[in-house]
Amino acid sequence: MREMEQRARRAYKEKFGEEPDLVASAPGRVNLIGEHTDYNGGFVLPCAIDRRIAVAVGTGEGGLYSADFDETRQVVEKDSSWADYPRGIAWAMDEAGHGIGAFRAAFAGDVPLGSGLSSSAAIEATTALALDALFGLGIGRKDLAVLCQRAENEYVGVNSGIMDQYASLLCDAGAALLVDCRSLEAESVPLDLEGAGLALVVCDTRVERGLADTGYNDRRAACERAARTLGVKELRDATEGDLDLLSGEELKRARHVVSEDARVLEAVEALEGGDFDEFGHLMYASHASLRDDYEVSTRELDAFVEIAEEYGARGARLTGAGFGGCAIALVSEGKTAALAQACEQAFAEHGFEEPAFYEFVPAAGAELAR
Ligand code: ADP
Ligand code: MG
Repeated sequence: MREMEQRARRAYKEKFGEEPDLVASAPGRVNLIGEHTDYNGGFVLPCAIDRRIAVAVGTGEGGLYSADFDETRQVVEKDSSWADYPRGIAWAMDEAGHGIGAFRAAFAGDVPLGSGLSSSAAIEATTALALDALFGLGIGRKDLAVLCQRAENEYVGVNSGIMDQYASLLCDAGAALLVDCRSLEAESVPLDLEGAGLALVVCDTRVERGLADTGYNDRRAACERAARTLGVKELRDATEGDLDLLSGEELKRARHVVSEDARVLEAVEALEGGDFDEFGHLMYASHASLRDDYEVSTRELDAFVEIAEEYGARGARLTGAGFGGCAIALVSEGKTAALAQACEQAFAEHGFEEPAFYEFVPAAGAELAR
């Protein structure tokens, strides 16, 4: 049993006075490449990270307990707290016609929250897998992910695509996950960073994603207009040649989406061949496209990518929607500390917020603890 799973189990025992029926855990994720492609019906390539949220569950009353917040909430009413995520899962299962009985649960996790590493998907996925097992529902992983997305969209009220929940439920250890956001097909792609002597570094610029909502909605609207102009269902269906028919904002946004979809598929080929040089080039190209065409980067994200390049990173790019948030780099294992230090210094000189750094290993998706 993982350390986090043991924590959840101990918390359950302390809270409810007996052993749980079962324990599960699910990871956060980071997107390696494929940004702003999801709502255009395209491709994304996330991997799960070695930070997880665990849950210990049992049947009966008692509520939902968070070891991290040290508080108990009742299962029933929505209250705009962390407990809405597990409640949302129970709600979505009920909506989908899966009968679940009364349950109680204790949570413990170490996915950084609110950093764009999808702690929300982790708590959804671990709850979904645990309740599926507790009540013997036999729901498949993909359907569980769809159910989690529905809980987040409709119960919690956060509009998000399917990537996070797919990554948390379907990733394999030492692998990335290619997701076709239209067909919802997914396939594991080898990501042997250790074998290549590489580390996956995440820089959280800690910039509040302030203009994110309007900026995001504007980008989405421009993509829809571009697709209409081209007479395609979604930009996923547009080709590079089609771009000649566009101009101005629509051209720039569509050029990012069309080229990014192509880069994801090239990135998968590169990883399948163990070609991290090519994979890294594609990451840099993705960043340039997000910066220049999609215009969602910030000075902090650009600074990190530049410093990473100076430190010999194979690739680096902003990850997530942009407008702040996180960037990632693939650097030689020995160079992560130096990169973090150089970045901290540069950020201080520029008067930026102090960044946070993480190093992650591509980890397994949601699992029942043994
Ligand atoms: P992100 O998914 O980027 O981390 P969100 O705002 O979508 O950020 O989700 C963060 C929320 O998920 C937290 O505010 C909390 O409600 C819930 N959450 C995250 N980690 C935990 C945890 N360890 N225990 C309970 N709830 C958690
Ligand atoms: Mg989230």
